[in-house]
Amino acid sequence: MNRLRWVLALGVALTIAAALPSEPARAPEKAVLVIHGGAGIEDDVKTTPDLEKRYRADLEKALRAGHAALQKDGGTSLDAVEAAIRVLEDSTLFNAGRGAVFTREGRNELDASIMEGKNKRAGAVAGVTRTRSPIAAARAVMEKSGHVLMVGDGADRFARSQGLPEVSPLYFWTERRWKELLEAKKEAEKSKSEGTGAAGSPQKHFGTVGAAALDRAGNLAAGTSTGGLTYKRSGRVGDSPIIGAGTYADNEACAVSCTGYGEVFIRHSVAHEVTARMKYQKLSVRDAADKVLQSLPKPKDGVGGLIALDREGNFALTYNTDGMFRGFITADGTVHVAIWEK
Ligand code: ASP
Repeated sequence: MNRLRWVLALGVALTIAAALPSEPARAPEKAVLVIHGGAGIEDDVKTTPDLEKRYRADLEKALRAGHAALQKDGGTSLDAVEAAIRVLEDSTLFNAGRGAVFTREGRNELDASIMEGKNKRAGAVAGVTRTRSPIAAARAVMEKSGHVLMVGDGADRFARSQGLPEVSPLYFWTERRWKELLEAKKEAEKSKSEGTGAAGSPQKHFGTVGAAALDRAGNLAAGTSTGGLTYKRSGRVGDSPIIGAGTYADNEACAVSCTGYGEVFIRHSVAHEVTARMKYQKLSVRDAADKVLQSLPKPKDGVGGLIALDREGNFALTYNTDGMFRGFITADGTVHVAIWEK
C-alpha cells in the first residue's frame, strides 16, 4: 500500500513539474573566432588531468591570439585564423606543425590551407617538411605566389623565399607521436592491413587544427593545418590543404574547417558542402554542419568533425567521434573551451 502511495505521489510531482514553465532559453552565444584541435581524443588525455589541462590552456591561448589579431586596427579574419593556428602549430600537443604525426617512413609531411570569404582567395601547401608554420606558408602562397596549391620541396623553398622560418625536419620529432607510429606499424603488421592512414582503419583521433573567424568588416576566413594521418604513405595528401574539402570560406554562407578521415572529406567536398547547404537550402550554419556530417559514411569510431562560423557569429562545432578539442571566443573576449563535454 505504502509503495502505491509513493508511486502516485511521484506521478503527481512529475506532472506538476512538467506543467511548470521551463526556464526561458538563453540566446545562443555569438563568436568572432572558433577553433578545433582535432576530432577524437587520445587515451592519455582521458587519464592524465595535467595533459588535459595543457590542451585546454593551449586552446585558450590560440583563441586569445586570434582575438588579439582581430582587435588590432584593421585586423582581419585572415590575421585571426593565422594567429590562432600558429599557436596550435607551435604546441607539441596537436597534430600540426611541431606535434605532427609521422608517415610510415618515419618522416613528417605537413599540409595546410587558408581561404577568405569575400573574394574567395585561397592558398595551400602540401607535403612540406621544413617550414615551421605551414599555415603561414599557405597564406604566403595565397598572397604572393599567384597560385593556390604548392607541394613538397618547391613549397618549402617558396616559404623560405618569403622570409618564413625554416627548421630542421627533426624539429617535428616528438616522442608521443613516434610511439603512435610504432603502435600503428605493429597494428598494421599484425592485421596485415593498410593500417591507419587508410579510410576504414582503426584511427580514433586526428589532432588536426583549424580556425574560422569573422572580422569587424564582416569578412569570414578559415584555415586548417595538419600532419595528416599516422602511418600514412609518403606523398599521401589529405583534405586539409584541399580547398572545398578541409577548408572553405564564403561570405554568403560561412567559413569551415574540418578534421577527420581526409579521404572521406575529399570525396564528399565537406567544407564546400556546408556552405552550399546554407546557400541553396537556406539552412542555418548549425543545421548545415550537422546534415553534412550525418550524410558521411561513419566508421565505428566516427569519421571526424568540423567547425563553421557565419557572418552573424552563429557557429557549429560538431563531430561524431568521442570528443573534439574545440573552443570559441566572443567579441568581448569571453573564452569557451571544450573537449568531450557537450
Ligand atoms: N583530416 C586530416 C587528414 O586526413 C587528419 C586530421 O583531421 O587530423 O589528413
